[in-house]
Amino acid sequence: MVNSNSNDYDIAIAGAGAAGLTLLLYILDSGLSDKFNILVVDKSLKPDNSKTWCFWDKGNLTINDFIYHEWETLTFSAFGNTYRQQLKEYHYHCVRSLDYSTKILERASLDKNITFLEAEIVDFTSNGEIASVITSAGTFDCKWVFQSVLRPRDYNDAKVDSSLLQHFIGWEIETDEALFDPDTATLMDFNTSQENGVTFFYVLPFTKRKALIEYTLFSGNLLDTHIYEDALEHYIHEEFGLERGQYTITRVEKGAIPMEDRVYQQWYCNRVMNTGTVGGFTKPTTGYTFTRLHEMSKIIVAALEKGGKVPHIKASDYRFRVYDIILLYLLKHEVDISVKIFRDLFKKNNFDRILQFLDEKTNFFQELSIFSKLSYMPFFRSIYKMKHRIVTGA
Ligand SMILES: Cc1cc2nc3c(=O)[nH]c(=O)nc-3n(C[C@H](O)[C@H](O)[C@H](O)COP(=O)(O)OP(=O)(O)OC[C@H]3O[C@@H](n4cnc5c(N)ncnc54)[C@H](O)[C@@H]3O)c2cc1C
Repeated sequence: MVNSNSNDYDIAIAGAGAAGLTLLLYILDSGLSDKFNILVVDKSLKPDNSKTWCFWDKGNLTINDFIYHEWETLTFSAFGNTYRQQLKEYHYHCVRSLDYSTKILERASLDKNITFLEAEIVDFTSNGEIASVITSAGTFDCKWVFQSVLRPRDYNDAKVDSSLLQHFIGWEIETDEALFDPDTATLMDFNTSQENGVTFFYVLPFTKRKALIEYTLFSGNLLDTHIYEDALEHYIHEEFGLERGQYTITRVEKGAIPMEDRVYQQWYCNRVMNTGTVGGFTKPTTGYTFTRLHEMSKIIVAALEKGGKVPHIKASDYRFRVYDIILLYLLKHEVDISVKIFRDLFKKNNFDRILQFLDEKTNFFQELSIFSKLSYMPFFRSIYKMKHRIVTGA
């Protein structure tokens, strides 16, 4: 219920998806809600089972209670070959959006300083040190707003050379026969036509009889639904020998995640911070966001605890931003070469090191070692084409 006698809060979390919930979790863990009044607004606060958020870590994200499944072995396939490795340092985890929101919202609902509001967010404004959340249920003034709902105001003015989508449809299926290995996830299986853009299957087996199988493309345009569905049906037949009537689709997951070299502004307006995907926290070349939201939330909460200003938070350092700009260009313009690059990456490197690199935690020498195993020419072409962005990283 909204505070009836006041429209004032210390903090508003606008949007209770992955970004808003993660920030709320860190606020709860820190005890900040003892000191601050917090408003959480979303058009729907009902937990849903629409997403599985996967990430890898070395046990440093203390969210074990939320993990639905984890895998120690990953496979990667391309050009008819499969590369399989047991991870040594990382584990690949899956969190269901249903569990994440149910648990965090339940915990927050016990806190008298946290108020929930189901309403449409229309805009944000600020006047000096006061920020306002304008909703269909009224306007709320706050000291800080963290929003993951509306695109930044200058969104359409930002420079973009490569603009793709990671789009997919996934089927969670159940089978009568024990067909899956619940210890092994297929990160990318490129053994499929690449005619519509860089295309692969992603397989997350949860039990021997239950798996999520996604047909994913990195390309500029969404396809007709039947194309994803036909591809899934074909793959399930080829890989697991099942006809359409021999399995039950228990859940459908779909998405279109931006893959762009767009520069995102941190601030929507004074004291209103853009977070989540609309804040540019999605890694442009992979779509992975979940771990970055944890890192972002830690920084925000540390600043709020000190009573200071929220600092500039970069989603990526300059070096990694440049790598993303270069790879995005290739993903957009050179589909077959991009698949070869992925193949060489997984064929010639330790998977732990690749995950560390994708998490932007490698040092420059480790990166040079990774790059030395890839063919240089495509990268030189991309660097030449994208030099105007690389020089500034912007
Ligand atoms: C299906 C799917 C699977 C994904 N899987 C992964 C993964 O495995 N690993 C990973 O790292 N990333 C993954 N991503 C990418 C990314 O992590 C997610 O998109 C993540 O949900 C982004 O968090 P967010 O808070 O920015 O957006 P959301 O989680 O979409 O949250 C936005 C919230 O804002 C609310 N909202 C929107 N507009 C309004 C409005 N006008 N008024 C009020 N409320 C509003 C919505 O109801 C929603 O709750 C996935 C994305 C999708 C779509």
